[in-house]
Amino acid sequence: MAQLPPPESAVLHEALKSNFGYDSFRPLQEEIISTSLENRDVVAILPTGAGKSICYQLPALVREGLTLVISPLIALMKDQVDALISNGVSATFLNSSLSFDDLQMRTSGLDRGEYKLLYAAPERILSPGFIDSLKRWNVTAVAIDEAHCVSEWGHDFRPEYRQLSTLRAALPEVPFIALTATATEQVQDDLINQLTLKDPALFNASFNRPNLSYTIIPKEKPVRQVFEFVSERKDESGIVYLQSRKSTESLAAALKAEGISALAYHAGLEPEIRAAAQDAFLRDEVNIICATVAFGMGIDKPNVRYVIHSDLPKNIESYYQETGRAGRDGLPADCLLLFSKGDLMRNLKFLDEVTDQRAAATARRQMNQMVAYAESQVCRRVELLGYFGEVHEEENCGGCDICLDPREEWDATVEAQKFLSCLIRIQQKSGFSLGMNHAIQVLTGANTEKIRKWGHNTITTYGIGSDHTRPEWAEIGGQLVQRGLAALSNDNFQTLNITEAGQAFLKNRDTLTLTRRPHKEGAKTSGSVARSGSVACDEGLFNQLREVRKQLATARSVPPYVIFGDVTLRHMARHYPESDAAFLALPGVGAKKLADFGVDFLTAVKNWLASNPKQTFTDEPASPRAKPKMKSENGVPGTALESLELFKSGLDLDGIAAKRNLTSGTICGHLTKAIDAGLIEIPRETFLSPEEDARIREAVDQHGLESIGKLHHALNREISYEKLNFYRVFEKQRKK
Ligand code: ADP
Ligand code: ZN
Repeated sequence: MAQLPPPESAVLHEALKSNFGYDSFRPLQEEIISTSLENRDVVAILPTGAGKSICYQLPALVREGLTLVISPLIALMKDQVDALISNGVSATFLNSSLSFDDLQMRTSGLDRGEYKLLYAAPERILSPGFIDSLKRWNVTAVAIDEAHCVSEWGHDFRPEYRQLSTLRAALPEVPFIALTATATEQVQDDLINQLTLKDPALFNASFNRPNLSYTIIPKEKPVRQVFEFVSERKDESGIVYLQSRKSTESLAAALKAEGISALAYHAGLEPEIRAAAQDAFLRDEVNIICATVAFGMGIDKPNVRYVIHSDLPKNIESYYQETGRAGRDGLPADCLLLFSKGDLMRNLKFLDEVTDQRAAATARRQMNQMVAYAESQVCRRVELLGYFGEVHEEENCGGCDICLDPREEWDATVEAQKFLSCLIRIQQKSGFSLGMNHAIQVLTGANTEKIRKWGHNTITTYGIGSDHTRPEWAEIGGQLVQRGLAALSNDNFQTLNITEAGQAFLKNRDTLTLTRRPHKEGAKTSGSVARSGSVACDEGLFNQLREVRKQLATARSVPPYVIFGDVTLRHMARHYPESDAAFLALPGVGAKKLADFGVDFLTAVKNWLASNPKQTFTDEPASPRAKPKMKSENGVPGTALESLELFKSGLDLDGIAAKRNLTSGTICGHLTKAIDAGLIEIPRETFLSPEEDARIREAVDQHGLESIGKLHHALNREISYEKLNFYRVFEKQRKK
């Protein structure tokens, strides 16, 4: 094969735009691509979402011949090939899911040299005649996706990856590129050895995911906490990880009962049911998957907006990997962990029964690292990246609970003594234990029926905690549970008991340091913090465009992101393209997509503009470095508090918008947040005339309050989104 000089950067950029619709490369992509095009072996270690696929897809288009892609997941193969075809790239796959006829058709296409990319599962290499066929098909590059499967560690679940050395031996001159998101040196070495790579070029990207926010909160009532978190994100996709199969089902059922679209997923379900759940999730037909860790291998969905861990992950690697499934499209996404030391205790108990002592010891060590991570008061990002050997030198990452909401340590010895002895006294008085709330009511000297009935107003700890508010006590109680000094029972009653460690604490007169927010506010239960990577846009139009995308996807039986990712749609809803040229300028739009979908989306934008004003967006650079001027309060971001201050000073929406160089829609969002958090009470007449109020109410009776877009439509677009949003928050307040 003649060695052509590697193409110039301009050629690569042109190929990137025309085939994938992107204007610039992500970090390391261009370096990896041009090195691979020098026909050198490459090992690329990039975090999830970094854009590994393009690293072998683009060279495949530039070089002559066929690129073979080894990919472990059959389900994923089809979606990737569909995505390539939608970009006008000729690609195909061979796997066991195909009918004989389909297989024949694809094989003849390969014989005729019709494809640039061929995806195959590793076991295919062993099928008779396959290696000979590869030689006939002019394979000029081999890409190994999820290459960590080759390693000792990974091949537990993909033994076939061990056969890849055969492939190497059969194609000694063909350059290999191995890609993975697993960074350990062990995996790197195994890769190079197993695939006998020749002096490979090694690329190793930062594992920081700036668009992900990390929040850890004490686990109190997990179902309630998950519900609160997801109901603020009703239209968005998310994954909730739970430890047991049973709890995935009960959570999904609980969410469904609240009208939230959710399905369970675990290895114990029938394969068809599992596949259907995964499919519904990929196609945006269901928003939430409540799953065990069995879910996710090969979930390539770019617009997962949050990942919740309702139970303690088994180690930091898993936590990183599972949270990493959020925000692959680069838009902001939230990772929430509900942390309880009780989970650790339970898991440790399981380990007592494990016979393999070495494995149990490793598992214990990893779990303790995970707990240390959760309990640490250092920036989550710094800790997480530090675990992977990366130094993150940012004073404030702007995207984790620690950085956004710094806590101070305080001496809680006396409070812990009061709390724990209150638990003992209640138990002594009544012969049974009660819940956290009751203990707090006793401590703060409340006069409730239960307290009177059980005579808890006569015990010595009654009212001894009136120097703290109830939310403060709730936080102290939560931390005592976290620290293992008290424990909630595992039954439905969730009664609170002092543990042996708690008894020892009292007996030994130990001291205890807890943490709290300096402003002494109530515990926040859910948070959304990172805004890095966000693309401000016309949300109403964005929702409209999502509908168009969904219809196109359904008609073609592909997941919506194969048509366009959210990033593209958000840019569309920001720049209001009205011509082919403007459409082509959007990220994610190449010639093929313009030809296929341009008309549909341009028409949607045009129709939208016929009855809606264009919004303008000033760049609010949302880099993680940009610190808000004000600190967030009660989950309301600093930027919203700034708007609130201006509102209090007498400016109206437009006035604030002008002053802050933001849109009135954004300001409306700020104020509704503040109202929702109880930071201000605004009479509804301020934003809604009695006539408007009545009209909206009528429409709400018919259409509900879930979709503001739908309401807007139902009201002939005569009532602005701002007003509808205010209406919604006023209703929410009214019901509180
Ligand atoms: P990985 O396999 O590393 O997790 P993917 O290859 O699935 O990542 O890419 C993640 C997302 O990023 C995809 O939606 C992809 O289209 C997008 N992407 C990749 N490269 C670029 C780029 N240069 N510019 C913009 N988006 C990109
Ligand atoms: Zn941080």
